[in-house]
Amino acid sequence: MDAMNKPITDLRNPMDLSGKSAIVTGGNRGIGFGISTAFSQRGAQVAILCRNIEGGRRAADELRADGGKAIAVQCDITDAESVTNAVKTVWEEFGRVDVLVNNAGVSSLPKSLIEFSDDIHEFTDIVDVNLFGTVRMSLACAKRMADAGGGCIINIASVGGFLSNSAAFNQPMSGYQVSKAALLHLTKVLAVELDPCNIRVNCVAPGPTHTDLDELLSEEMRKGMSTRTCTRRFGAGLEIGSMCAYLASNEAAQIDGSVIAVDGGILVKG
Ligand code: NDP
Repeated sequence: MDAMNKPITDLRNPMDLSGKSAIVTGGNRGIGFGISTAFSQRGAQVAILCRNIEGGRRAADELRADGGKAIAVQCDITDAESVTNAVKTVWEEFGRVDVLVNNAGVSSLPKSLIEFSDDIHEFTDIVDVNLFGTVRMSLACAKRMADAGGGCIINIASVGGFLSNSAAFNQPMSGYQVSKAALLHLTKVLAVELDPCNIRVNCVAPGPTHTDLDELLSEEMRKGMSTRTCTRRFGAGLEIGSMCAYLASNEAAQIDGSVIAVDGGILVKG
């Protein structure tokens, strides 16, 4: 059995990520910043990849002020060249990357297909970020992880990937929901494809979580969504980060190809 694929024998340092390096796309704000914070507080060095480099630098400064080790690298995940360059920069800076969290994503206001103009860019633009951006980043990192002996990829989907109406609006958001549903299956397919390279691939599906996206919601919608959860509240970015840190840790060595909802129970309560 190789060194990276061993059962755990000790639980005294739970979710310890010291010595590991992680990339978090969209790690500058919202859920992504919760994930960056969780990794940093568990001892990993974190590379925040985002378009808004000023925002990325501010987030990295905040993690460093909290005792962490973090850098910000500009990256647009819809642009293959930008992805290749950003991943190369992180490898040069950290020497290796053990964990990739594909968190960056975009959403839209609800609209049914029949309301689209003849052009379906409102659908394809979202898929290009949420699905193809994840594929671009996974490809760029998996090749390098494989050469280094293995690693771990975590995709951030959504409860929207399970539902035919958005949890937020109770109306269709086809581009968003289809892109997130595709991530659920991409996770399973890549877990098997990348198994020979010693790369585990898992997925976290958040429910309603406090971020900038909240601004799209009226007070009434927010109340309605909270009522649909068992916990009667929105989640926090750090709660998504905590699950990602667990999945990236050695404790989760036997978890591969799984989709885990961190949704306050919205999927079971509805
Ligand atoms: P935010 O809108 O707060 O943040 C989106 C992040 O994605 C930003 O960091 C942004 O970077 C980055 N991003 C967007 N497009 C690109 C791109 N082309 N290239 C690089 N980075 C990009 O979103 P949330 O924090 O709410 O969501 C994070 C993830 O969680 C998304 O995948 C979302 O679908 C998912 N999710 C969110 C839920 C919620 O309730 N908030 C519920 C379920 C899932 P920049 O600042 O540079 O633009």
